[in-house]
Amino acid sequence: MAEPLFERVAIIGIGLIGSSLARVIRRDSPKTHIVACARRAETLDTVHRLKIADETTDDPAAAVAGADLVVIATPLSAYAEIAAKIAPALKDGAIVTDVGSVKEAAIRDLMPAIRDGVHLVPGHPVAGTEHSGPDSGFAELFINRWCILTPPEGTEASAVEKLRAFWAALGAKVEIMTADHHDMVLAITSHLPHLIAYTIVGTADELEGVTQSEVLKFSAGGFRDFTRIAASDPIMWRDVFLTNKDAVLEMLGTFNEDLSKLTRAIRRGDGEALFEHFTRTRAIRRGIVEIGQDSAAPDFGRPHAQLGKKAE
Ligand code: NAP
Repeated sequence: MAEPLFERVAIIGIGLIGSSLARVIRRDSPKTHIVACARRAETLDTVHRLKIADETTDDPAAAVAGADLVVIATPLSAYAEIAAKIAPALKDGAIVTDVGSVKEAAIRDLMPAIRDGVHLVPGHPVAGTEHSGPDSGFAELFINRWCILTPPEGTEASAVEKLRAFWAALGAKVEIMTADHHDMVLAITSHLPHLIAYTIVGTADELEGVTQSEVLKFSAGGFRDFTRIAASDPIMWRDVFLTNKDAVLEMLGTFNEDLSKLTRAIRRGDGEALFEHFTRTRAIRRGIVEIGQDSAAPDFGRPHAQLGKKAE
């Protein structure tokens, strides 16, 4: 990023994702003026300590004044309120984007702030960790991860192209799709896996006959991998399930049918059905490693493992 794509960037919500963005912009585009916005003084103090923004404020309208790019990086439940606050302060020509995990709801809540001459290009970097807050961000978070843009019909192509170039400069691979397709794809690849992890960790917590210390002691048998996902931020994930209800319920219906088939195979001692199913799923895992979306190395071999940081 030699000449900045955006001279002034406002980041509203400066936690894991917002602060990772601020870090990489700060590092690669030092001429870009970054304004960070959060509610709590403690969060803004941390931003000062980390030196990842030029200005901080708790007022979203003040944050977006004069900004060429506005990035909403708060939980989804805050979007409607933020949209109402920033609407009158958005500069002509500004691009408004977000990083939220559900896109139809993001468009519904942000669109009221978008007048003629202001562009809404929603986005979702499919990258993250189970950690929250500005301390948990890191500049490499988006490298080789997908960022999905879901511009509503009629969005100016130049605005989409500029945001695509922005994410590419951060190291991400960019794909464009409709918001409803995004929500369906993410329901199966992200939302359902989180729901299953939240369920299984809760179930283990309430078991009679197996003690909690045994669950922890023998967690390397598989349970441990679910606990990382189930440690994800409760507010963010509450909002995901409230806003992507229909797609998640549809995927959950299919999942329950498949779980019933496996339950039946176990009950009947149908080894062939189990073997065939597990062989198919193993090939999917190998495919993910082959396209570079995970490593075949054990957890402790991954670059961020020591810091407790791994890609979502
Ligand atoms: P986070 O670390 O919890 O940070 C959230 C930030 O939003 C905090 O700075 C918080 O400020 C601020 N905030 C909350 N409500 C606000 C409001 N009403 N006005 C202004 N600021 C407000 O969250 P995150 O993990 O970065 O997630 C942010 C977004 O990214 C979510 O929409 C999520 O769906 C999406 N996302 C997350 C991941 C992931 O793995 N975590 C991956 C991809 C996308 P205070 O500290 O002052 O409350």
